[in-house]
Amino acid sequence: GAAAEVPDKRVDSVCPFCGVGCALTWQVRDDRIVAVEGRDGPANRGRLCVKGRYGFDYPRHPQRLTVPLIRRDDAPKDADASTDPAVARQWFREATWEEAMARAGGTLRRLRDARGPRALAGFGSAKGSNEEAYLFQKLVRAGFGSNNVDHCTRLCHASSVAALLEGIGSGAVSNPVTDVAQADVIVVIGANPVVNHPVAATWIKNAARRGAKLVIIDPRRSELARHATHHLAFRPGSDVALLNAMMHVIVDEGLVNAPFIADRTSGYEALAAKVRAFSPEAMAPVTGIDAETVRTVARLYAISPAAMILWGMGVSQHVHGTDNARCLISLALMTGQIGRPGTGLHPLRGQNNVQGASDAGLIPMMFPDYHRVDDAAARAQVAQAWGMPVERLDAQPGLTVVEILAAIDREEIRGMFIMGENPAMSDPDAQHARHALARLEMLVVQDIFLTETAALADVVLPASAFAEKDGTFTNTDRLVQRGRRALSLPGQARQDLWCIVELARWFDLDWSSYGATPLDCEAAAAAVFDEMRTLMPSIVGASWARLDREGGVTYPVAREDEPGHPIVFVDRFPTADGRGRFVPADVLPPDEQPDDAYPLVLITGRQLEHWHTGSMTRRAAVLDALEPEPVALLHPAELARHGLLPGGLLTLQSRRGEVSLYARADEGMPTGTVFVAFCWYEAAVNRLTNPALDPVARIPELKYCAVRLRAGGTA
Ligand code: SF4
Repeated sequence: GAAAEVPDKRVDSVCPFCGVGCALTWQVRDDRIVAVEGRDGPANRGRLCVKGRYGFDYPRHPQRLTVPLIRRDDAPKDADASTDPAVARQWFREATWEEAMARAGGTLRRLRDARGPRALAGFGSAKGSNEEAYLFQKLVRAGFGSNNVDHCTRLCHASSVAALLEGIGSGAVSNPVTDVAQADVIVVIGANPVVNHPVAATWIKNAARRGAKLVIIDPRRSELARHATHHLAFRPGSDVALLNAMMHVIVDEGLVNAPFIADRTSGYEALAAKVRAFSPEAMAPVTGIDAETVRTVARLYAISPAAMILWGMGVSQHVHGTDNARCLISLALMTGQIGRPGTGLHPLRGQNNVQGASDAGLIPMMFPDYHRVDDAAARAQVAQAWGMPVERLDAQPGLTVVEILAAIDREEIRGMFIMGENPAMSDPDAQHARHALARLEMLVVQDIFLTETAALADVVLPASAFAEKDGTFTNTDRLVQRGRRALSLPGQARQDLWCIVELARWFDLDWSSYGATPLDCEAAAAAVFDEMRTLMPSIVGASWARLDREGGVTYPVAREDEPGHPIVFVDRFPTADGRGRFVPADVLPPDEQPDDAYPLVLITGRQLEHWHTGSMTRRAAVLDALEPEPVALLHPAELARHGLLPGGLLTLQSRRGEVSLYARADEGMPTGTVFVAFCWYEAAVNRLTNPALDPVARIPELKYCAVRLRAGGTA
């Protein structure tokens, strides 16, 4: 009855899913979340999407890990076996924490001593807190002894960040999403915010309704395109040709912002020379977009009082991902559409803390705050802060996510610690990833469920769900917010921070001063955050007490009494000379083109109701009920061509693997393409994707590979 729904307590926190960072309040009764309300945070003003509102019950799912597990001696490590948790569970036996830690830490230590520091690697998580990310990279760097530490940013915006650092000296966004309210023109390219950043999409729709021109550049006709004034459904993979054509128009018609170029940029001449060959007429056959439309959109963007660009994985997950982002940066620089309200560059961050995890140094080439590991002064500063000899810090950048898997193939890496990531589902050519993980001598996985990755582990550590811990999380707008503990830990599950501190002991690191306990991490998180601020000038003014009091602060913020800075690059860029740099880009085709044997293009991504690899949302009752089964989205004409009806079973095959799933008609899909989200463990679409890498950022081409389709299957 109604009385049963009255909560015992209400806890203010943030949403555990996407990078929008919606503020919310959990209603808790009998140690369970029973309802969620939107709160008046800077990013959402009370709004929530279906994931934030209904994706709250997964921590109490019956499959929750509550006891440490050790792989049985007689259990095979079979990368091809079922990863269904009910099946995989039988390969493990329960263990005490002491035994599990001794097995995990002792073996990793032995491998390091026998094979050297670079024989170990760690994947941290963009779903963990800033404090967990920071302590995780500190464990790998100070304990394991190398820079082999990375996380899923490699699979999402690594290319955007590489281009932004090179072009304007900072990988973070210039303006918050809500700035679309001030924009006259909004360009959304390679992103589907209605699905992936749903509350952000509501701000964009509101702006369109107010009269802002909305330009959608995407091969798919997404729901947001219904609100658009222009939809450029270009050919998948022809991004650079299209963007260079837009810049050609701006240069050719004299629509550049000459004073801005003169005062604030360098390298314009080379860029202008490059785009000369890319007239919209010459590019039309490549992009599939007629020249007049390109001219119209280019003029709109260039001459509007305030124009903003937002982009997603459709830009970044290509072998030419860095080039795509370079073009977007050049567009903003040549028109001066940056540094003011309603302008700028906004790579929409996916995970709730992917911005913060990168800031905290969970990447192989950078310490916290993007100081390069191969910079001697940066190493000296970090060594001093960590109280260790500088020689013990590896001066060589570490390996990235996909490179680490390749290094396992070569038997160079023999032990790994994976916290809250699921590469067996999320990495390209996932079957290869699974075989690599199965070859490790020691794989330690810390998670809340027996994920597809944990199924291959030697030791599984049961950790804390989002609502069971305290910490800070940085959203796509650079807004650092407090997440708060609402639930107790089930069974013998432990705080993630405590697990990292315990593992560090095996590497002679005494981190007891942080004060982490198995069941509580608030004091430890505050202590770690304080240490982070000593190494990260960008967040110096955002003390723990201030975050607690104000809920959130947008960095950069140098002093406690100074407000945050939602808009940056107002009068200079954080580069050596203060100028933004144009970097011309040439057309580099997708790595694997469709052919007679594999005639369709596979586009991967996400669905509204499910989060990434689905380990949380597929265990949330309402979300699972809304989208219970794996689907492939195809244009109705494409379905008809294959003799399929919506709901029919089909099998997709690439050169690397195959999956079977159900057909769904989607008028927004271009013919010749098929879209599948990567959340379905029973149809893990990354078995099909191509591990070819962008040469600069080492991001794989998850948005494009060649597949064939046949009706029927084995689902
Ligand atoms: Fe959570 Fe993102 Fe939805 Fe907001 S938009 S409720 S942060 S999933």
